[in-house]
Amino acid sequence: MGAGVGSGIATAPAFVLPNVHQSLGLASGVTGRPRIHSIEVALNTVADELDKSAQAHESADVLFALSAILRDPVLLETIKAFLAEGSGAERGIRGAFNSFARKLEKAGGYFAERSQDLTALSARVIDELSGAKSDPDFPDEPFVLVAAELSPLLASTLKKTKVVGILTERGSATSHSAIIARGANLPTVMGAVGIQNILNGDLILLDATSGQVFIAPTAEEIRHYSEAAYPSTSIMLTIPDPDDIPVKILANLGSSFEVPTAVRAGAQGVGLYRTELLYLGEENPPTKDAQIFEYTKLLAGFQGKRVVVRVLDIDVDKPLPFLRPAGQGRYANRGLQVLLANPAVLQTQLEALAAAAEYYPATELWVMAPMVLDEKETKAFVNMARAAGLANVGIMIEVPEIAKPRILNKVLKMVDFLSIGTNDLTQYVLGKNRYGSTMPLSDVRNHRVLSVIDAVITAGRAAGKPVGICGEAASDPVSAKVFIAMGVDSLSASPSLIPALASAISLA
Ligand code: PEP
Ligand code: MG
Repeated sequence: MGAGVGSGIATAPAFVLPNVHQSLGLASGVTGRPRIHSIEVALNTVADELDKSAQAHESADVLFALSAILRDPVLLETIKAFLAEGSGAERGIRGAFNSFARKLEKAGGYFAERSQDLTALSARVIDELSGAKSDPDFPDEPFVLVAAELSPLLASTLKKTKVVGILTERGSATSHSAIIARGANLPTVMGAVGIQNILNGDLILLDATSGQVFIAPTAEEIRHYSEAAYPSTSIMLTIPDPDDIPVKILANLGSSFEVPTAVRAGAQGVGLYRTELLYLGEENPPTKDAQIFEYTKLLAGFQGKRVVVRVLDIDVDKPLPFLRPAGQGRYANRGLQVLLANPAVLQTQLEALAAAAEYYPATELWVMAPMVLDEKETKAFVNMARAAGLANVGIMIEVPEIAKPRILNKVLKMVDFLSIGTNDLTQYVLGKNRYGSTMPLSDVRNHRVLSVIDAVITAGRAAGKPVGICGEAASDPVSAKVFIAMGVDSLSASPSLIPALASAISLA
């Protein structure tokens, strides 16, 4: 799982770039000391290329800015100075770009992000100078690009290829990567967990709206997504009248950019807004203001409706530099326990959510915690959330331990709602790995999993607290009908899957 950007589904073999720098320039080295004139020509050639690919490119401003750097006389002077001190061409170029990059890093934020582009850019100039080929051999068939990061340079190269989707290890909501991915209109998942295990040619199925990634998906998963998800199919399906649908159908979102897609798809609100994209790839947690900015965009799109926001849920494999790891055993370093070990991060997020809710009182904001393990954690979260001014506070049921009747009954006295995360719950009940190919969506209908889900829904109803389902299984019509029969209050699915789901469960 990662953070989805844009919308849509992509299914194709993986093409793995070991790292972004390698993808942009082989930097095979320049021996000897080419005359400064050759270096100037190389700088201008790469600048011309950038100007050309900037035409009608969604990141034109970034590409033009990079080409302006290449043409900056100060850059050439710095290279000259390195050469005068005895450096070879490659060291001179790298040194000059590095000193530019350091200046940008000092400027922080947006500029610091651009500094990484400069490192890639210097490799491209060195390739040009050495006559090396700067583009990797992209496949002739459709492929999902698997890369450390998506930079404007890489995106401009991809234009000429058969890329159908992008999966990256790094990236954040405010990063240019995310903006580029949206602009390129390619289904993209950023900050993906376990990306290192993907090999060239592995079949990848990614769902950009929910951030789900399947490596070597089962035939069932491919059918489920491809039948329901393609935008043309979704548009053709008429969305049933909400009165004919027995439960609320809500959307799973990874960013406020997906709000219009969700509304168009007929979502009656948001059942899971994953906040990870705000944090992934960052050195520091997002500020309260940056979060308010994002949350208000989300709330503005659903006035008069329910929006369930989940506080940060970072996975084990993706530690963030500003989060102290916490816990032990199979649930170590996941979910709420990590946030409780880093209370300032949680506090800021809760305050930002409460502040955003004040701007949009007509939107019903519900806030929940992920991977909650017991009643003690529940109490700590509920207390903090209420103290921050949040009115509707709940937790996710994702591990079997919290669904034990004794614990669940205590939890239900504290919370306003429950949301079942079937992706995690299924893997933990069955002892499987959700990212592998051995956990098909239908596993949720294993009797051991269904009995946990049933117990949670029954207990929730007895306590008068709504229980929703927000894992991928909610969008599978067969499972969805089972959940409805059990008395679930809402189903939350990727926007692209909503029309098909609504039609399948419509009573009309
Ligand atoms: C889940 O586990 O079902 C869920 C919705 O959370 P995530 O997929 O983000 O882990
Ligand atoms: Mg989960």
